[in-house]
Amino acid sequence: MEANLKHTFSVEHARSLDKSDPFPARRADFHLPIINGKEVIYFTGNSLGLQPKSAEQALKTELDDWAQWGVEGHFHAKNPWVSYHEKLTKGLAHLVGAKEHEVVAMNALTVNLHLLLVSFYAPKGQRTKILCEAKAFPSDQYALASQIRFHGGDPTKDLIEIGPRPGATCIEEEDIERAIQEHSDELALVMIGGVHYFTGQLMDMERITRAAHAVGAYCGFDLAHAMGNVPMQLHDWNVDFACWCSYKYLNSGPGAVAGAFIHENHVGREDIPRFDGWWGHDAKRRFLMEPEFNSMNTAEAWQMSNAPVLNMAVHAASLDMFLDARIDQLRLKSKRLTAYLEAGIQFVAKDVGFRAELITPQDPNRRGCQLSLAAHGFGKTLFDALTEAGVIADWREPNVIRMAPVPLYNTFEDVAAFLIVLRNCTQALTKK
Ligand SMILES: *Cc1c(COP(=O)(O)O)cnc(C)c1O
Repeated sequence: MEANLKHTFSVEHARSLDKSDPFPARRADFHLPIINGKEVIYFTGNSLGLQPKSAEQALKTELDDWAQWGVEGHFHAKNPWVSYHEKLTKGLAHLVGAKEHEVVAMNALTVNLHLLLVSFYAPKGQRTKILCEAKAFPSDQYALASQIRFHGGDPTKDLIEIGPRPGATCIEEEDIERAIQEHSDELALVMIGGVHYFTGQLMDMERITRAAHAVGAYCGFDLAHAMGNVPMQLHDWNVDFACWCSYKYLNSGPGAVAGAFIHENHVGREDIPRFDGWWGHDAKRRFLMEPEFNSMNTAEAWQMSNAPVLNMAVHAASLDMFLDARIDQLRLKSKRLTAYLEAGIQFVAKDVGFRAELITPQDPNRRGCQLSLAAHGFGKTLFDALTEAGVIADWREPNVIRMAPVPLYNTFEDVAAFLIVLRNCTQALTKK
């Protein structure tokens, strides 16, 4: 048994898994960081995805067109800038499971969250409360609390946070449903992270949406950690709105343009508030510069400013890779890869003699690619030792190491190489 397991996690065996995989990683299409002369083991695609090699040419095309055309590039560039954002809708719609007129690339994530809250958080009478998950990403907490204060409310009363049960690390959808029912008359909005940034838990978005709608509340999701990680069907699930960033699993570069989904039920509605800008104005009449606002009849109505083309060029190149790879295929690969890492960590823990607590759900259907390991007994010294040995993972206070093997570019061999480092580091630290 022992020998067999060892073989399972050997670099040779991992290489054979990569070779025989029906969906081999497209590692050669990405730049792998080289630190101290060595290619790193990169498990941080959940924080900043690697640079696709196609990014440079995509960017250069726009730089060249800008040099050649100046302002005329708006209409004469190879990809006319005036409608540049339209290049992105197909890829985005594929990733979130939407119709093309339900998605738009714009702004940054927290900005989009605020803009969508303008439309979907309108506290009235008794209905003033927002329900979210406990320990949401800080930016989301700040956004929700400040929106509540903006409307004259009190976040300590109007923000309901649902956490894990005592002793547990993940949140039960059943508990979210129960809380939604308990607060049914006071609830304006349910706003949840689709995949939790800390634990890696994937929420049942369809189920949560159904529960929110049953009490007459809107339901939205922050997809920062879901986008490009798991397939979704936001349209069919009747999700009201969602937003995401593109520099994590979407590999579109630091601070890259974010995106938003607005269900077609709400697209074109005149009875919900929205902040308007000229890029949300009917495209056919936009340059008539009319004083009155006539909105687009698509998610682009929420667009305010003209498109950040240089940044979108990289985003477009990256989305093309996803359209080619297909998110469903990536998900199948992702489940194999993460299960391999999970089993490997448990194997090393048993071998070395330490307790490896993964705070991510064990059920592959309740997580994306990320695993979060509680560094019991080691603390940050383990993380520092891994970094020193060439593993790029990340540390989240108080004691969690997050690792995301990304199916587009991480290999089984990466995992096997990581397990050797993990064994060496934990062995050394245990001896001390
Ligand atoms: C990464 C992340 C953010 C970051 O917000 P920006 O506006 O892109 O800086 C916000 N929320 C969540 C849940 C995240 O994971």
